[in-house]
Amino acid sequence: MSIIAPLAPAVGKPALIDPFQRAITYLRVSVTDRCDFRCTYCMAEDMEFLPKRDLLTLEELDRLSTAFIERGVRRLRLTGGEPLVRRNVMSLIRSLSRHLKSGLLDELTLTTNGSQLQRFAGELADCGVRRLNVSLDTLDPDKFRFITRRGDLSVVLAGIEAARAAGIKVKLNAVALKNFNEGELAFMMAWAHERGMDMTVIETMPLGEIDEDRTDRYLPLDLVRIRLAERFTLRDIPYKTGGPARYVEVAETGGRLGFITPMTHNFCESCNRVRVTCTGTLFMCLGQEDAADLRGAMRRSEGDEALHQAIDEAIGRKPKGHDFVIDRATKRPAVSRHMSVTGG
Ligand code: SAM
Ligand code: SF4
Repeated sequence: MSIIAPLAPAVGKPALIDPFQRAITYLRVSVTDRCDFRCTYCMAEDMEFLPKRDLLTLEELDRLSTAFIERGVRRLRLTGGEPLVRRNVMSLIRSLSRHLKSGLLDELTLTTNGSQLQRFAGELADCGVRRLNVSLDTLDPDKFRFITRRGDLSVVLAGIEAARAAGIKVKLNAVALKNFNEGELAFMMAWAHERGMDMTVIETMPLGEIDEDRTDRYLPLDLVRIRLAERFTLRDIPYKTGGPARYVEVAETGGRLGFITPMTHNFCESCNRVRVTCTGTLFMCLGQEDAADLRGAMRRSEGDEALHQAIDEAIGRKPKGHDFVIDRATKRPAVSRHMSVTGG
C-alpha cells in the first residue's frame, strides 16, 4: 500500500506517494500505439498494432487522467505512438484543458513527431498547450526519410513553424544515434538555438524488438558532451522542466541543451512519474515489466472507487529504479514492449 500522506491540495483526496517517498506529480498518457512513422530505433517495419477494441475510448482516457489529477498530478503529457494521429484527439485535449482552467493542472503538453502540427497547432494553443516536444533526429531530408522510414522533413519543419507561430514553445528531442546523427548534433543544436528552441539529446533505450542491432546505434551521451565541449562552452545549470533531462547552457548560442541519460546515469532517485498506455495499463517504471490494469478497474463500475484503489495499489509497488543494459552479450531488449506502447 502507498503511504497515505499529504492530501492533494486542490481536491482533498490523498496524494500519491510511493514507497520511496516520491510524490507522483507527472503522468504520461499514451493515447494510441499507432504512428504515421516507423523510426528504426522505435518500431519494426511491420508493426502489429492493437485492435481498436482494446483501446481506451477518449472518454476513458479523460476519466483516467482526471483520476490522477485529483490525486495530485500537476503535469500531463500526451504521447504515443503519435498522439495527433488518434482520431478526434483534439476533443480529448479540449476536455482535459478544463483542468488547466481550474488550476488543478500546471501543464498539458504533448510529445509529437510534428507531422500533424500544421493542422493542429492553432487549436492546441487555444486549448492552453504552451510547450511541445517535437522529436527530430536529423535536418537532412534523406536521412530523415531513412530513419523514420516514411516521414517528410519539410512537413515536420512546417509543423514546427506553425506551432511557434501559434505561440507554443517547441523543444527538439533528438535520439543520439551512432553512425547516423553523431556528426550533426552540433549543427542541430545551433539551428534550434538560433530559433529560440531548446534541444534535448536522448540515449537509445533497449525497448521492444526492432529490425536492427541496437549496439550498432548506441551512442553514450558522455561522448556527445565531450565532442560538443570541443566547440562550445557548456555550463551546467539547475534548469528543470519536470522531466529527467539535465541541462547545460551553451555560451556561444545562449541556448539550453538537455541530456537524458537513462543508460549512463540513473535518474531514478527523483522519479516523479508514471505512464499509462492506450489500453489503460499503468507502468510504474519505463524500464520494468510490473504493471496494473486500470481499464478493468474503470470498466467494473461507473464510480471511480475501484480505479483509485487500483492506482493506490500500483503506486505502492513503484520500484526504486530501472536497470538498462545495452551490450553485445545482452541481445534481447531489457523490456519487450516498444516505446510506442508505453509512451515516450
Ligand atoms: N511519436 C511521438 C514522437 O516521436 O515524439 C511520441 C512517441 S515517441 C515513442 C516518444 C519519444 O521516444 C521520441 O522522442 C522518440 O525519439 C523516443 N524513442 C522511441 N524509441 C526509443 C528508444 N528505443 N530509445 C530512446 N528513445 C526512444
Ligand atoms: Fe512514431 Fe515517435 Fe516511434 Fe518515431 S519515435 S515511430 S514518430 S512513435
